[in-house]
Amino acid sequence: MPEWIGPRIRFKCILCGECCRLYWVPVTHVDLWRIAEGTGLKPRDFAAPIPKDAVGEWGVPSILLSDGRRHYVVLKKRLDGLCIFNKLSDGRFICSIYDRRPSSCRFYPFVYIPGDVVRLELAKDAERFCPGIGRGPVRDLSAEAEAAAAREAEMESYREVADRWNGLVASSKVGGTFDEFLEFALAAARGLKFN
Ligand code: SF4
Ligand code: SF4
Repeated sequence: MPEWIGPRIRFKCILCGECCRLYWVPVTHVDLWRIAEGTGLKPRDFAAPIPKDAVGEWGVPSILLSDGRRHYVVLKKRLDGLCIFNKLSDGRFICSIYDRRPSSCRFYPFVYIPGDVVRLELAKDAERFCPGIGRGPVRDLSAEAEAAAAREAEMESYREVADRWNGLVASSKVGGTFDEFLEFALAAARGLKFN
């Protein structure tokens, strides 16, 4: 368990689905592998590239594709804006891949600042969007701290994968289609050991 500090905040998720609608969810090679293994879906079915110049800097690796632009890899959304893995059941918006959800879905409404001591904070605007804040008991953020540390390791590995891929595209050693990238990413993730 990593050392962490964080706010004393009451929080209990009421499964309103708002965070699964508001945000694009960036995924790593490990997320692609984890979800594909758990669902039997092909990454093409649930992931898509989104141009970085259209959405700005997210602080996660981007990949170069054959159109010459950098892209983030994100989970697809439905027309109503909800993540394709969100399912309405008895009036609650449930994550249908909860145990295999991407690492970036494991903190909201908190964000973290990595370091020897993980610092957890409430996400910007979360008080406006998340009705779970202020409900239930004061939240023990140990699980979020652990997920933050795991995500950092995953992100470091993904950075290397993206760098290797971008080098291959820049030197025309691969065509640079999104399908090729997905195969490349899955191959990189296979054989690694994850929790
Ligand atoms: S917005 Fe808050 S309460 Fe709603 S699903 Fe997300 S974390 Fe839960
Ligand atoms: S993967 Fe699950 S938690 Fe993450 S945005 Fe989609 S439905 Fe929400």
